[in-house]
Amino acid sequence: MSEKQTNHRKSGLSFEVFPPKKDEEFENVYQILRDLGALCPDFISCTYGAGGSRAGKTIEITSFIQKELQIDAVAHITCVGFTKKDLAENCAALREAGVTHVLALRGDRPQTMTDEQYDRREFHYASDLVRYLKEHTDLIISGACYPEKHFEAPSFEEDLRHLKEKVDAGVSSLISQMFFDNDFFYRFLDRAAAIGIHVPVHAGIMPITTAKQLGTTVSLSGSTVPKKLADLIATYGDDKEDMRKAGIAYAVEQIRDLQEHGVDGIHIYSMNKVKTTTDIYHML
Ligand code: FAD
Repeated sequence: MSEKQTNHRKSGLSFEVFPPKKDEEFENVYQILRDLGALCPDFISCTYGAGGSRAGKTIEITSFIQKELQIDAVAHITCVGFTKKDLAENCAALREAGVTHVLALRGDRPQTMTDEQYDRREFHYASDLVRYLKEHTDLIISGACYPEKHFEAPSFEEDLRHLKEKVDAGVSSLISQMFFDNDFFYRFLDRAAAIGIHVPVHAGIMPITTAKQLGTTVSLSGSTVPKKLADLIATYGDDKEDMRKAGIAYAVEQIRDLQEHGVDGIHIYSMNKVKTTTDIYHML
C-alpha cells in the first residue's frame, strides 16, 4: 500500500485498531498488536479520538507498529475543530515517531462545538486537510470513502464528486466504510472508476459477533443490514458462542467473495479483538 519498503510478507488483509479508553488497558494493546502483526497484514491503522482527546495515543500505537513490528502503520488524523497550528504540531509528532502514512479525515462535529465555532473552522472537509498535508509534509495520504454514500451527502453523485476532489488533492488510496452487502461495494467501485477515481480501495469489513454490536455499528455507520445478516442475529443472537461463529462465517463469506472479485485489499475493523480476527485469518 505505501511506497515504503517493509520486509514482512503481505496478506492482502489490513486491520484497524483503536487506542483503549483507559490508561490501565493500554499495556494490553501492545500484545494485541503483536498478535495481529503475526498475521502479516499489509498495514495496521489506528483511529483518532473525536476532538483529538487521545491523539498522543494514536501516535504511540502507530509508532510501535512501524518501529517495533516493522509493519506499515497508518495514523488516522481528523481536522474538524483543529487549527493549522494544531495540525503542524501533530504532523511534527508523527514525524518524530517515525510514522509516515496517515488516513486524512474530516471527523464528526464534537458535541461541545458551537455553531459559530463550527462555521469558523479552518478545515471544512477532508480534502482541505489533504491539500494542507500535501503542501506542508511528505506524508503518504489515504482517505475514507462510503460505498452507501456518506450520511450528510444529498446524493450519491455529489458524494462521489467530492471524493474525486479529495483523491485529486493527493490521496493515494482509500479505505471504505463498512458494508454488509458486497453489491454496494461493487457498484461503488464501478461508479468511482467511471468518474476517474483509480486509486486502490480497501474494502472495510466489520465482523459482527454480538447482536448488540450490530445495533451500535449500524447507528454509527448507517450501513444497510441485509436480510441474511438480520436472520443470523435472530437465530443466534441469544447464544454468545454461536453468534460469534455465525458472525465470523458471515465475514469470511463476504471476504472470499470480495477476493474472488479481485478487490485491492480487505480492511478488517478488528475492534482490538484478536481471537475474532485470527479466526477469520485462518478460515481464509
Ligand atoms: P469528507 O471527505 O470531508 O466528507 C464529509 C462529507 O462532506 C461528505 O458528505 C462529502 O460528500 C461532503 N463534502 C466533501 N467535500 C465537500 C465540499 N467541497 N462541499 C460540500 N460538501 C463536501 N472518525 C474519527 O473521528 N476518527 C477516526 O479515526 C475515524 N476513522 C475512520 C476510518 C474510516 C475508514 C472511515 C470510513 C471513517 C472514519 N471516521 C473516523 C469517521 C469520519 O470522520 C466521518 O465519517 C466523517 O463524518 C467524514 O469524514 P471524511 O473524512 O470522510 O469527510
